[in-house]
Amino acid sequence: MPNGNLVAGIDPASVGLELRLGRLSRENVETKGRRYLLEGRLIVREVIGDRIRATCRGSGSTWRLGFLNDRWYCECPARTRCSHLVALQLVTQDPYSGRDE
Ligand SMILES: [Zn+2]
Repeated sequence: MPNGNLVAGIDPASVGLELRLGRLSRENVETKGRRYLLEGRLIVREVIGDRIRATCRGSGSTWRLGFLNDRWYCECPARTRCSHLVALQLVTQDPYSGRDE
């Protein structure tokens, strides 16, 4: 870990347990996203208005991802919600979420 900062809302103890369990079973996308975040692989580059730009290192590459035009995107080949977006969504929020509440 690059520094000792804890990420709000994530209990390091539970993440440790998930990582240990992940070695026994296949690491799922949620667990992987949390690990990427805790390992400092996610960098939020810019948040302007309703736009988010970030990069995340994973699977041997650095992927660009973010929120643009009312939707999340990641340039990695995953077809469903990927671990990079899981990491980003742990620290940022869709600015339109909750707008119907
Ligand atoms: Zn991705």
